[in-house]
Amino acid sequence: MSAPLDASKLKITKTETPKDPLPNDKLVFGQSFTDHILEVDWTKEEGWAAPTIKPYHNFSMDPATCVLHYSFELFEGLKAYRDSNGKIRTFRPDKNMERMNRTAKRAALPTFDGNEFLKLLDQFLLLEEKFVPQGKGYSLYLRPTLIGSSIGLGVSTPTKAKLYLIASPVGPYFGSDFKPVSLEATDYAVRAWPKGVGSYKLGANYVSCIEPQAEAAKRGHSQNLWLFGESGEITEVGAMNVFFAFENDDGTKELVTPPLDGMILPGVTRDSTIQLCVEKLPSDWKVNERKLTIYEVMERSAKGQLIEAFGTGTAAIVAPIDNIEFKGKQIEVPCKAGSSGEIAKQVNDWIQKIQYGDEEFKDWSRVAA
Ligand SMILES: *Cc1c(COP(=O)(O)O)cnc(C)c1O
Repeated sequence: MSAPLDASKLKITKTETPKDPLPNDKLVFGQSFTDHILEVDWTKEEGWAAPTIKPYHNFSMDPATCVLHYSFELFEGLKAYRDSNGKIRTFRPDKNMERMNRTAKRAALPTFDGNEFLKLLDQFLLLEEKFVPQGKGYSLYLRPTLIGSSIGLGVSTPTKAKLYLIASPVGPYFGSDFKPVSLEATDYAVRAWPKGVGSYKLGANYVSCIEPQAEAAKRGHSQNLWLFGESGEITEVGAMNVFFAFENDDGTKELVTPPLDGMILPGVTRDSTIQLCVEKLPSDWKVNERKLTIYEVMERSAKGQLIEAFGTGTAAIVAPIDNIEFKGKQIEVPCKAGSSGEIAKQVNDWIQKIQYGDEEFKDWSRVAA
């Protein structure tokens, strides 16, 4: 029988050349890493080997390794935060484990006990504790990754795999203030489609989005708003889910985000935003997961009913949107200059308080121990 992932078998080899963490003002997302890497190898016959934490190192790979040819790669993104007592916390990491296993199954890669991985993550965080920066907006970005590592050019189920984790200290996405983003609603390329793999965090989903993003950047936009189909259905932004706030003529208000129909990534921040808004927004608000089109947004903007739009994701928490371009037309989204709308700001505050342990909400914050 093949062995399950077992955190109690962890072997730690500490680096002999420890680095000093960079000062907060030198942190660039994904450019500097901590001293160590967590790895667990898997084979079809043996199952999960004993996990290791070793000094950060390069991989050596046969050029015929399957990840290099058929994109057997998937990942997760979450962060560790330092609370006011110096304890290290992660935010809803069980959701990331659930999603990673869903993706692994779809990618014909081995699944694992997420809870065991979180025990390993806690050990990693305690070891790398000095790299979790102090201060609101600062955190240690965590990148769990799973790759197929069997060798050969046959297109088939990998018989070897490697699960690993690296970590990069990061500052606030937008500096001290919100910086609203401008989007290009894109329908000349498609990010995902019904019954495709858009709802999985597969590396292969990102490569096809870079060229359209570079095109949008030439026209002054920082991201694509991905549309689907003839009706111009709104799906999501590059690596963020998207929310629109409308005020109806009768004064009732609606916060809308597209439903989890298999075409969008089920964001942890999206789910948290929905739950918090349902619980905390005043009673004249309705929170709806429903389909909406770029044409509805255009129409309601023209009527003055569009009051706010924002993206959600682990990197930024919320990113206010101030403009959407579609077929050469600009949809202006109300947004205080250089700042954010009211809801985006509130959601950001609610989530940040839970992440930094200033407020307990359900069991969303896990203390590394
Ligand atoms: C990761 C990701 C998100 C956001 O998910 P979170 O769990 O909130 O970080 C949204 N869309 C895409 C395409 C993503 O890859």
